[in-house]
Amino acid sequence: MVHIFKQLGYNIAMDIESGAIHILEDAAAEVLKLLTPPMVENCPEDVISQLKDKFSEKEITDAYSELYELYKEGMLFTERDYEINIPQEYPIKALCLHIAHDCNLRCKYCFAEGGDYAKGRKIMPFEVAKAAIDFVIEKSGTRRNIEIDFFGGEPLMGYDTVKKTVEYARSIEKEHHKNFRFTLTTNGLLMSEEVMDYLNKEMSNVVLSLDGRKEVNDAVRVGINNTGSYDRIVPKFQEFVKRRGGQNYYIRGTFTSANLDFAEDVKHMKELGFKQTSVEPVVLDPSSPFAIREEHLPAAFAEYDKLTEVMAEYKKNGDFFNFFHFMVDLDQGPCVIKRVKGCGCGGEYVAVTPDGDVFPCHRFAGMEDFKLGTVFGGELKQDIIDKFGESTVLKKKDCEECWAKYFCSGGCPANNYNANGDILKPHKISCELERKRLECAIALKAFEADLQEND
Ligand code: SF4
Ligand code: SF4
Ligand code: SF4
Repeated sequence: MVHIFKQLGYNIAMDIESGAIHILEDAAAEVLKLLTPPMVENCPEDVISQLKDKFSEKEITDAYSELYELYKEGMLFTERDYEINIPQEYPIKALCLHIAHDCNLRCKYCFAEGGDYAKGRKIMPFEVAKAAIDFVIEKSGTRRNIEIDFFGGEPLMGYDTVKKTVEYARSIEKEHHKNFRFTLTTNGLLMSEEVMDYLNKEMSNVVLSLDGRKEVNDAVRVGINNTGSYDRIVPKFQEFVKRRGGQNYYIRGTFTSANLDFAEDVKHMKELGFKQTSVEPVVLDPSSPFAIREEHLPAAFAEYDKLTEVMAEYKKNGDFFNFFHFMVDLDQGPCVIKRVKGCGCGGEYVAVTPDGDVFPCHRFAGMEDFKLGTVFGGELKQDIIDKFGESTVLKKKDCEECWAKYFCSGGCPANNYNANGDILKPHKISCELERKRLECAIALKAFEADLQEND
């Protein structure tokens, strides 16, 4: 299977099974669009006749010869000739700790129903967090590196629990041959200087939530009294990143149908001084006024095009910023198992609620049908673990013929479930956006390679 597209002025062909990416002249791209495997040595007459009004016969046959060379070298129309055996058991390596089922904002698109997951406002007591750390040490087997993501709601509402949990995990990691790595996701409202210094000392990564321009952010990221949060948050985030001194962080936003011009929000983040950015499409019930629906896709695609051009321009001028969703590894990493397995929720990754209940991930928290067990002992429900374990791109019928399958890994099971009632059935809008982002990301790689070559 080969996917051919045009982005940033490049004709790009991607050979799905080998992962090879080719930048093609116009004639080669047009020839390739007409080919089906197996290729033969000489250019078929019907290809020449179909393209003779656009290109000379020599241009067509030369292009064909180049493509045929790629075909012979196993970089075009390759077939997978090996089995991908997914290990059936994975130790847990990452916990999303729901420190607070409470929040000091009431964002209008919040999947957690204003922070409490519709289950009542709660802060995780330290005893639960401590049990969660013991739980992950036990369930992680021989795996050494363990990720803990302090999440909410707003986790800084349970700052005391966060601090005690870090202290506890650090105090026992050596004796258990573990290495904890902490991340915290915050809306920033409670970031005092003391909190900033603490996070900079203890958190390997910090995710800062902001939706971009003031009017965009304040239309949706509002407080309990329905006022915008931008002015209260941005100076804190700027100060925090300044103090962070190059350690990992990113500014994470959400775009909705109300800001389909989201490239402006990414640019705004960059103008505020943030170089690590992410703006994700909201996924809501189509009846929500903020939902991204089919009719919004052309505008969203055009905006990704625009963002790609903006990023290319920055790169050309020797400046840079990362847009998380345009980051793609084309050098065949991660391994094929990771590529088909995806996020690992319900297996390597689970979420723990303030009561100590374990769910496949934060998006399933509170959905009783998906409760795996608790951190206080007892077995986790193997049938649910198996269900998520099987949720690879190889098991999703809709993904079989999708050119993006080894990058997307079959989409987000939570989005799939919420949209279609089935973790194996991809959410169509997310698929469309994912494929578009991937095209942009690949084109930016081609652009970078060009820049390096001409350096
Ligand atoms: S900050 Fe997060 S948890 Fe709080 S209301 Fe907004 S989206 Fe929901
Ligand atoms: S984009 Fe959609 S169809 Fe393609 S691999 Fe991802 S989930 Fe499957
Ligand atoms: S199911 Fe979706 S939200 Fe949950 S961890 Fe996987 S990708 Fe993330």
